[in-house]
Amino acid sequence: MPASEKGVTVGVLALQGAFQEHIARFASLNASSFTPRVRAIAVRRPEQLEQCDGLVLPGGESTAISLGLHNAQLTEPLRAWIAEGKPVWGTCAGMIMLAAIATGGKRGGQELLGGLDLQVGRNGFGSQVCSFEADVVFPMMGNQEYPGVFIRAPVVEKLLGDAVPQREAAAALTTSPNSLSVSVCPASALTLPRPPIEVLGWLPASAVPSVVAPDFTHTAGSAAIHGAHPPRDAHVVAVRQGRLMATSFHPELTGDTRLHAYFVREIILPSL
Ligand code: GLN
Repeated sequence: MPASEKGVTVGVLALQGAFQEHIARFASLNASSFTPRVRAIAVRRPEQLEQCDGLVLPGGESTAISLGLHNAQLTEPLRAWIAEGKPVWGTCAGMIMLAAIATGGKRGGQELLGGLDLQVGRNGFGSQVCSFEADVVFPMMGNQEYPGVFIRAPVVEKLLGDAVPQREAAAALTTSPNSLSVSVCPASALTLPRPPIEVLGWLPASAVPSVVAPDFTHTAGSAAIHGAHPPRDAHVVAVRQGRLMATSFHPELTGDTRLHAYFVREIILPSL
């Protein structure tokens, strides 16, 4: 039976953070005339990955999620899952987990899964009190805006054309005694053939509250930009690379299910 009739199973990593809300959003797709039928399950153990056609890494706190993955013995199975080309969507802390390089991390670094040729800055839009809501521009949604909820969100600092050399340079920094806060994914996460990272959505500069540190500059221009083309001063907040997608905001905290639908229809279904 084709997956479009049988339905798909989406796992939501349920160790910490906003996993219930993601499960509720996928469930609400079924209440509309959406096809395929979606079964969303909470994932806490490695063997559950076998049931999943795609996985969401929710927002929350990336250091806690890393620790939870380690304790659940899920880190390596998840890396293998990503390496197999399975669909994964990271939101906020989940975007950090998928990045090749994260700055502003905890002292001594934190464990990243990797997969995306992306450098993010943790808490780059400021602390909890700097949380904000702003409309994200999504050309793939017919240029209709999407309500972005940003909570201690990561900033996309660089789209890395090829993250391998940049990861190596960053890895060298992590061993320096003066380096407090750079984390890198394992080199093995970048050995696979990967399509280029694409921009899906962005915030116009005018939408970013002035509380954001003034020295922050979006440097997506460091790699040739694939996908949609944001204005030079925009802040990229949604990317895709093959079957990996990441958004720096929390789509599960709004009633707008267009991104959940996109993940199912445009990333999971073609992978089956
Ligand atoms: N700043 C958090 C982190 O580093 C992410 C915040 C979020 O997911 N809302 O993990």
